[in-house]
Amino acid sequence: MSKQTLSFQAEVAQLLHLVTHSLYSNREIFLRELISNASDACDKLRFEALNNNALYEDAPNLEVRVSFDEAAKTLTITDNGIGMSAQEAIDHLGTIAKSGTKDFVGKLSGDQKQDAQLIGQFGVGFYSGFIVADKITVESRRAGLKAEEGVRWVSSGSGDFEVETITRAARGTSVILHLREDAEEYLNAWKLKQVISKYSDHISLPILMEKEEWKEGEKEGEPGQMVKTGEWETVNKASALWTRPKKDITDEQYQEFYKSISHDFENPLAWSHNRVEGNTEYIQLLYIPAKAPFDLWNRDKKAGVRLYVKRVFIMDDADALMPSYLRFVKGVIDSADLPLNMSRELLQESRDVRLIRDGSVKRVLSMLEDLARHDKHDAPAEGAEGVQDVVSAEDKAKEGKYTQFYAEFGAVLKEGLGEDFANRERIAKLLRFASTTTDSVSVSFQDYKARMKEGQEAIYYITADTLAAAKNSPQLEVFKKKGIEVLFMTDRVDEWALNYLHEFDGTPLQSVAKGSVDLGKLQDEAEKKAFDEAAEAFKPVLAKLKEALKDKAEDVRVSTRLVDSPACLVVQDGGMSTQLARLLKQAGQKAPDTKPVLEVNPEHPLVKKLDGSMHFHDLAHILFDQALLAEGGLPEDPAAYVKRVNALLA
Ligand code: ADP
Repeated sequence: MSKQTLSFQAEVAQLLHLVTHSLYSNREIFLRELISNASDACDKLRFEALNNNALYEDAPNLEVRVSFDEAAKTLTITDNGIGMSAQEAIDHLGTIAKSGTKDFVGKLSGDQKQDAQLIGQFGVGFYSGFIVADKITVESRRAGLKAEEGVRWVSSGSGDFEVETITRAARGTSVILHLREDAEEYLNAWKLKQVISKYSDHISLPILMEKEEWKEGEKEGEPGQMVKTGEWETVNKASALWTRPKKDITDEQYQEFYKSISHDFENPLAWSHNRVEGNTEYIQLLYIPAKAPFDLWNRDKKAGVRLYVKRVFIMDDADALMPSYLRFVKGVIDSADLPLNMSRELLQESRDVRLIRDGSVKRVLSMLEDLARHDKHDAPAEGAEGVQDVVSAEDKAKEGKYTQFYAEFGAVLKEGLGEDFANRERIAKLLRFASTTTDSVSVSFQDYKARMKEGQEAIYYITADTLAAAKNSPQLEVFKKKGIEVLFMTDRVDEWALNYLHEFDGTPLQSVAKGSVDLGKLQDEAEKKAFDEAAEAFKPVLAKLKEALKDKAEDVRVSTRLVDSPACLVVQDGGMSTQLARLLKQAGQKAPDTKPVLEVNPEHPLVKKLDGSMHFHDLAHILFDQALLAEGGLPEDPAAYVKRVNALLA
C-alpha cells in the first residue's frame, strides 16, 4: 500500500479538537493512556498466543519501552504486543467504535471545565497523545504478519491522517509523539519516571527506560550532563496490583489503577478487594464509579469487569461475570481455577463462572449497603450529653456517597428487581424515592414502613413522568389530607421494575392510580357513611356521564381519592398505567388499547353543576380531557377540547 491520506470520522475530528483544549490542565495522563493501551496490546498477544505459540516469534518477554530523543523532540512508547495491521490502524485510530459517540460529541459544550469532565467519562485513550504532541507517528506490525506488512500512521490531529506500508522487523507498536514546544518537560527521564510510577506502577508488565549516568564535562569548565548508557532498566513495580496484599496498597494506588482500567478521570466512589477461597478460588477487585459513563444506557454497552486467569488477561467485557443491572461496576476478577482457553460460550456455561458471578454480585451489594448505612449520620439524640461522637474518619468519608451513587446509578439498579430474583430483597432495600414527605430521593421502603399510619395496610406509590407531575397529581389528594405518605416513582424503569415487586417485607405495594382506593381502617365510619350517601345521590348523573363518555372511559364512578380536583383517571386493577401505555406508544410499540376509568368528585362545584346543565355533554368531555391533561397526557382531539372550553368561557 502506498501512502494515502484518509479523513477521520467526523466525530473524531471534533473530539480531538476538544481533547487538546480541555484536558490541558491534566495533561500528564496521556502517558497513562498510552501505556495502558500498550499493556492491553500485550495482554491480547498473550491471549492469542495461548492457541498459537508462534506469535511470540523470538521475543517471548512482553514489555513496554519508553524512550525520548531530545534533539528530535520526540517521546516514544513501544510495546511488543499484538500490533496492528494496516487496516486495523485505519479502523482503530481513525474511527471510534464506541456506539453513541455521536450523541456524546453533541453534548460537548465548548466550556473547558465541563467538557473535561465529560471527556473523562468518555475515555479518550490514544487521542490523549495530542494533548502534548502536534504530530503523532504510529509504526506497527501485527503479530503473525510478515515484516513487510508493517504500517506507518501519521497525523497532526486535525481532519486527516496518512497511512502507508512499511517494513518493520519488530512485532508490536511504537507510538512516537512529536512534542509541542510547551511539552518539552517530558524529554526528561526523571519527569517520565515520576509520571510512570504515579500512573503505571500497577501495570503487570515491565516498563523499561534506558539508564542514564552523569558524565563530567570533557574539559575544564565544561558542564557535565546525563548521558544514555544503552542499558535498560525497569521503572515500575511491574506486579499486577490486585495480586498484592491489601496492606501494601495505598488508596492512591487503588484509585490510579481504577483510572487506568476505566479511562475515567475521576476517583471511584468505593472499591472492594478480596481473595475468595472455597469452591472456586479467585481474586476480586471491584469498583463503583462516581459518575455514570456517557453510554450507560446503550444496549450494547460493554461490561466493565475484566477477566484474568492466573494473571493472564482473557477478556475485558465479560458480561457473564456481572449482571446487566450492575454494568457500571469496573474491576478485575482473576480466577485460579478456570481454564486459560475460555471462550465466551464456555464462560456462560461454566459452574465456576456462576459461582464467581454470584460472589461478585454479593460483594457489590454489600459495598452499596455499606455506603447506604453511612450515607447520613444523624445528629446525636437529645439528652445524649456526654456521649462521644463515635463516627470514625473512615465512616465519615462515606457520608453522602450513597446519595451520589443513587443519583447516577439508581435507575440502573432498579433493573435488578426484574433481573436478579435471588437478590430482589436486598436490591429493594437499596432503593430510594422522593415522596409526599420529601423532595429528595432518599426514602427507603424501610423508612416508609417505619412511618406508616396506624391501620395502614399498604405502601402507596404513584408513577409519573416527572416529580412535578407526581406531586400535583389529583390522585394524591385524599392521601395528603390524611397525612399518608406516598412514594413518587418517576424513573422510566419504575413501572417495569415494579411489576416484579409486589410487596416489601410483608407489606403490599399499592399504586394510588390503580383500582379503587380502599383506605380500609384509615377511613372512619362517618366518612364512609357520607361517601355512600353522596354516591347514592349522584347515581343518576353518573349514568348520564357514562353514556356521554362511553367511547373514552371504561367506567365512571364516584371517587374516594379526590379532595380539591373535580376528576381523575385511574386504571383498573392489574391494568397498565396510562404513563406506561403512553411511553410504549411514543417508542412505537404496541400498548393495549384499554380505556381508563374516570373518577369524579361529587363535592366539586364543577361536578355539582353537571346536574341539569344545558352544557352537560361539553362539561363531561371537558372533565375527562382535563383529567388526562393533569397527568401529562393529551386529549385525543385537542382542538375540540379548546373549542369546548372557549365556548363555556365566552
Ligand atoms: P480504547 O483503548 O478505549 O479502545 P483507544 O482510542 O485508546 O481506545 O484505542 C483505539 C484502539 O486502537 C484500541 O482499541 C486498539 O485496538 C488500538 N490500539 C491502540 N493502541 C494500540 C497498541 N499500542 N497496540 C495495538 N493496538 C492499539
